Amino acid sequence: MSSLDSLYQQIILDHSKQRLGEGLTETHGHPSADNHQYNPTCGDEINLRVRLSEDKQRIENISWEGDGCSISMASASVLSEMAQGLSLEEFNEMVEQFRQLLRSRGTIEPDEEILGDAAAFAGVSRFVARVKCAMLSWVAAEEAAKEAQS
Ligand code: ZN
Repeated sequence: MSSLDSLYQQIILDHSKQRLGEGLTETHGHPSADNHQYNPTCGDEINLRVRLSEDKQRIENISWEGDGCSISMASASVLSEMAQGLSLEEFNEMVEQFRQLLRSRGTIEPDEEILGDAAAFAGVSRFVARVKCAMLSWVAAEEAAKEAQS
């Protein structure tokens, strides 16, 4: 295993324990939406809430509650950390990059400047069965953000 691989594994392990963003937060009357996603192949489940700024330009907060494997929980934690304060444009770009990375089967080098700790999931793309685990919360956030804007 390369040192980068082990660094990435450590990041995933840390986030699966920290679970940043766990516990749904108040909406404070701001535009927000909830989304539920379930991954039947692994049993991962997540309820995720996106709260936007009042002008609907920025992600103010992402919170969630869920249960599942360490990859799915770590991914939700990383997402909550990374998405906070992003403009919706930046957020959509980050989600798209993450999706491409995970679909790449290990062929794409992650752009750490955009993905931050989410780059740690690059190795997951080599395991097709686990891609859904990592994508689950990101799909939920994408859907919720869309709904909150409308
Ligand atoms: Zn899973």
